[in-house]
Amino acid sequence: ALGLATPISVIVGVGKAAEIGLIIRRSEALQRASNITTIVLDKTGTISEGQPKVIDIIASEPFSKDSILTLAASIEKASEHPLAAAIVAAAHKYQLQLSTITQFESITGQGVKGRVNKKTILLGNKQLMATNGIALNTITTQVSTFSEQGQTPLYLAVNDQLAGLICVSDPIREDAIAAIKRLRQLSISVAMLTGDNAETAKAIAEKIGIDTFCANVSPKDKAIYINKLQRQGEVVGMTGDGINDAPALAQADVGFAIGSGTDIAIETADITLLRSSLHSLSDAIELSRATLRNIKQNLLGAFAYNALGIPIAAGILFPFSGILLNPVIAGAAMALSSVTVVTNANRLKLFKPSQELPL
Ligand code: ADP
Ligand code: MG
Repeated sequence: ALGLATPISVIVGVGKAAEIGLIIRRSEALQRASNITTIVLDKTGTISEGQPKVIDIIASEPFSKDSILTLAASIEKASEHPLAAAIVAAAHKYQLQLSTITQFESITGQGVKGRVNKKTILLGNKQLMATNGIALNTITTQVSTFSEQGQTPLYLAVNDQLAGLICVSDPIREDAIAAIKRLRQLSISVAMLTGDNAETAKAIAEKIGIDTFCANVSPKDKAIYINKLQRQGEVVGMTGDGINDAPALAQADVGFAIGSGTDIAIETADITLLRSSLHSLSDAIELSRATLRNIKQNLLGAFAYNALGIPIAAGILFPFSGILLNPVIAGAAMALSSVTVVTNANRLKLFKPSQELPL
């Protein structure tokens, strides 16, 4: 029974987790999740739905809105980023004819680069423009209005000249606010990390009630941020969906990947959230705490049982009271202790996630 106490609870816990949409790759993660003190959330694709839409396009002379969108979509066809999908979808909607792209390059956390119609195209955030020495011009005056509304402005440069802006909006997940509140009720602090710009990050953070956030962070910085928390004694659970979250997912004590996220995020994470809801984080932590409690009950029960049963079977009571345990009964009692442990572990199957969500 002592040998069974821990593994049986973990097995039942991992099985229950799968039933409520939590795929656990490493079973230690189920135990570690109970100690989490801080949850760090990525913004794009984690707090937001990851299904952004093009809201507005601003073109700088001599470019037209259509030509900006055509160039952008031609290059984004080759990217896996959720923002890329939005741009390609918008181009399809307006039935634009896309061109072929050569020398495609993806700069993680900044944007994309490539050659279309013999022109060098850069598309991404402000940092991408800065690292490539692209001067900003008057069309960027509208950028802060977009950002303050929580939208993401993307800059498009053609042959090293800023040619246009594409404004993309990615709605936040419907239940994000409630899910974050629930994490707080479990005494867990919540922080947000994003490669997006500071104004957009601030707007989103305010909307969902997070006061700790970091914007403009590179994939490496995300991992460094988590390491810093860990050195302050925090046990960190990182949640992300993208290739840019992989280093942070690996660094965290427990990595959670959004099920609809990229393969790399899922490969790196300890736990995959199949239901695309942040409520799954609280479910995972609550189930983890329940599993740990169950392990302790099992260990205590099995220990007490053996501590009493073995000396009695060995005849410790005989000199005083003449009581001897029949070996048949002792053997049955031995088996019964294992049954008790297994039965207690099976109680974990009764665990209910507090939100019944469809898978
Ligand atoms: P997050 O950390 O919020 O998930 P990312 O690190 O994936 O965001 O991206 C950070 C920023 O880099 C985006 O907000 C966008 O401005 C830019 N970016 C990244 N990939 C692309 C892409 N394929 N096309 C355009 N911009 C991109
Ligand atoms: Mg992301």
